[in-house]
Amino acid sequence: MTEIDPTAPVLVTGASGYIASWIVRFLLEDGYTVRGTVRNPDRAEKLTHLNKLSEAHPGKLSLFKADLLDEGSFAEAMDGCQLVIHTASPFLVGRVRDPYEQLVRPALEGTKNVLGTVDATKSVRRVVLTSSVVAICGDNIDMRGKAMFGEDDWNFSSSVDHQPYPYSKLVAERAAWEICAAQNRWDMVTIHPGLVLGPSLTTASASGSHTTMRHFADFSLAVGAPDLEMGVVDVRDVARMHITAGFLPTAHGRYIANAGTRSMLELGQALRAKFGRGYPFPYVTMPKFMIKIGAPVAGLTREFVEQNVGWPLRFDNSRSIAEFGIDYRLPEESVVEHFQQMIDDGLVRGRGKH
Ligand code: NAP
Repeated sequence: MTEIDPTAPVLVTGASGYIASWIVRFLLEDGYTVRGTVRNPDRAEKLTHLNKLSEAHPGKLSLFKADLLDEGSFAEAMDGCQLVIHTASPFLVGRVRDPYEQLVRPALEGTKNVLGTVDATKSVRRVVLTSSVVAICGDNIDMRGKAMFGEDDWNFSSSVDHQPYPYSKLVAERAAWEICAAQNRWDMVTIHPGLVLGPSLTTASASGSHTTMRHFADFSLAVGAPDLEMGVVDVRDVARMHITAGFLPTAHGRYIANAGTRSMLELGQALRAKFGRGYPFPYVTMPKFMIKIGAPVAGLTREFVEQNVGWPLRFDNSRSIAEFGIDYRLPEESVVEHFQQMIDDGLVRGRGKH
């Protein structure tokens, strides 16, 4: 049982990110004092939405400069906080030039850096770490022989060379549990979202969520979508789960955050039902052999296609519902609201009436 003083400031790492921005907003709306870290406070376009939140909640949000790879850089922001919500970690999909440097090193060293500072900061009582379903399951094919993945499962198939982003989340979470187990002053709760969709408070995030959504507008799925199932969850539900995980005294261990699994085609169908024919949403599933041929162009390996396309994927979200009382938004609602946000922000244009 860990009681967090609600008057103490809450630290959110990577505060300008897609998910973190919603966490910051909900914390402020709930009346908490928030400290957010950002990598580069000089990049004004990344901070516009946070500055607006700060104006709406005077004196409640302060921003600090910190980099995952800069040891000790989180110390000033963390001092006096009882709850640390660690979201900062790169989420890049598609072609990644140097998977170790761009994904694994910042995730792993960054987590060690942040939790090292937690160890050194006597005020901290709880850490909420944004992990992922990809720390639970590497390839969809790994579900063979089981009905679904649960919180006891661990990704056993990813590496730096195959599925580096899942690997980055796996090694970072493993390191975090090791650091947590070596002491008894603070505890840790990990949140494991599927693909996070839903409206974005920022247009400056490089999150893979936005990369994935752009495929529905850039014609890359116009001739067909891969039969690729993904866990999907709304960004607002994920943000709320982080806050519940932080303040619920009994919260402990790992929580899957997933509304359901959907294929790219099903998400595209939900978009067409709402926005009509003016956009290049997919009509059909593309045969696996064709996806394999085109895989390198799309930044995918044939091994990835072989072990993920056409394989069903299921996650058991019952723990989050029972303990956190989450009433998940449907993926169809999240994907539609995400696309609407992209239209409103001028990020996509239709081909005609919609
Ligand atoms: P995002 O918008 O790109 O947020 C990532 C954050 O990490 C950004 O604030 C980014 O800062 C920060 N960051 C990256 N490298 C950093 C570094 N070296 N030093 C300091 N900060 C650094 O992506 P997101 O989707 O919100 O992801 C947030 C977290 O959720 C990540 O841990 C991700 O693995 C996890 N997650 C995401 C999903 C999803 O579908 N979106 C699903 C499961 C888990 P900059 O803005 O300066 O780059």
